[in-house]
Amino acid sequence: MPPSLPPILSVSSSTDTSQTCTTLSLTSEEFTTLHSLATASKSTAYCPYSNFRVGCCLLTTSGAYITGANVENASYPVTTCAERVAFGKAITEGHRGFKAVAVATDIAPPASPCGMCRQCIREFCELSVPIIMFDGSGGYSVMRLEELLPLSFGPEALGVQTRSSS
Ligand SMILES: [Zn+2]
Repeated sequence: MPPSLPPILSVSSSTDTSQTCTTLSLTSEEFTTLHSLATASKSTAYCPYSNFRVGCCLLTTSGAYITGANVENASYPVTTCAERVAFGKAITEGHRGFKAVAVATDIAPPASPCGMCRQCIREFCELSVPIIMFDGSGGYSVMRLEELLPLSFGPEALGVQTRSSS
């Protein structure tokens, strides 16, 4: 049996967003900022081939917001997803701890990170990190990394600790 899909919530419902914030230990300001920055980052995408814009915003444990968007290439496999662009920026800027990952697309229902990006998130985040997926119509869903990528393989298996308190 396939796993059950998460409910689609609404950013304009204060009941939905307050419950989400409580569950994820986010302030309403953090949630609103993740939504607005992930959504705004779509406009920075370079996607002349697919025209499928994706924006991403990471919230670090130190309270910083790091954004990214998809960057396509005429040689299609060279394309980099928004999530991996955001993590590349964050890691090279010295960030190591992440509290939430937000992604935004123009479609509905919400799109989820591709398999490669789930593995990228796995490298740098706790299994409990929430992935907040915003659609183009004010809807969103939330899943934990361990739900999106069960039985995952990570750095600990190779004796490496990638996360710190910073
Ligand atoms: Zn991806």
